Amino acid sequence: MWGVERSRRNKHPIWPPTSLTKGSTGPRKAPGRQSRGSSVAGPVNPNVNFTRETILTTDRIVEQLVATRDWGERDARISARANFKCEYCDLDLLGSVRAYKEWNKDHIVPISAGGSDSEENIALACRTCNFSLKNKWNPEPRCEPGATREQLISAVREHIRAKTTSILKQVQGFREIAFRECGES
Ligand SMILES: [Zn+2]
Repeated sequence: MWGVERSRRNKHPIWPPTSLTKGSTGPRKAPGRQSRGSSVAGPVNPNVNFTRETILTTDRIVEQLVATRDWGERDARISARANFKCEYCDLDLLGSVRAYKEWNKDHIVPISAGGSDSEENIALACRTCNFSLKNKWNPEPRCEPGATREQLISAVREHIRAKTTSILKQVQGFREIAFRECGES
């Protein structure tokens, strides 16, 4: 099962990797409020975004992630291949704490529909896309036989876009009720 954190002693990788949440490695802290002389720490914005600048090659990124010992090589390869973004909605999974906690992987063709556990059939995905929006939806019947990984992902993206649009309409309806201006009947 994805998303289960495992101990460092275990041969399995910790997933999602925990090093960024410990503050020892990872992106620099965003400039912001510093607590000076106060014992109360300032609020941490879980939505803070970091800039992205790719300097290393994918192989070097994988190598260095594995060297942190928080990553298994397979997970590092899958993540680097996707440029650390959800392959379905483009959420930058290293963009913020909240996004980081969304870290997940999905079997593009679900195992239950005969999909394999190979890297080819795995997509880096945010939790929302994986569980709420895709939810084991199988893109295969929507594609030509022998469709490529990219074509299957493209079908999933289309499916997720349609679902998101319909949920957005619902949310907008609720907003109209919740935030209706005073004086309106
Ligand atoms: Zn997503």
